[in-house]
Amino acid sequence: MGGPNQIETEWYQDGLRFECTMCGRCCTGPPGYVWVTDDEISALATLVGMARHAFADTYTRPLAGRTSLTEVETRHGFDCVFLKRDEATGTATCSVYEARPQQCRTWPFWPENLTSERAWKQAGRVCPGLGSGPVVPIEQIRIQREKTPK
Ligand code: SF4
Repeated sequence: MGGPNQIETEWYQDGLRFECTMCGRCCTGPPGYVWVTDDEISALATLVGMARHAFADTYTRPLAGRTSLTEVETRHGFDCVFLKRDEATGTATCSVYEARPQQCRTWPFWPENLTSERAWKQAGRVCPGLGSGPVVPIEQIRIQREKTPK
């Protein structure tokens, strides 16, 4: 039973390795969603130099009572509309990185990826950045996990 004095322990107490390789695989795949809030839409519109309503009309869609960025079907899958692919190098980068939504900022430390080591390894089948690079400490992981849009 949990209580006020319970100390939180997670299977990733020692941190987890993660370093993005810019493959873009987390930004494509089967049809999905990238949730955006009103504030995030405003920030994205400012970044791309569009009026807010024009941006929303062009790049967002209603989904399940919320708002998501749109997707573009490519040979790789359903790409986020802001994923820019460089076919020469095989890299894919976010063209609105500075104003990317919270959901993108907290990947891969989403609650569903952290439920178990198995779930983390499963996410690693999509994202080659999992398990490589420097160790992200537990404190940072907790912050990202809690900031992930529910
Ligand atoms: S799938 Fe992982 S390594 Fe590839 S772009 Fe996304 S975060 Fe980076």
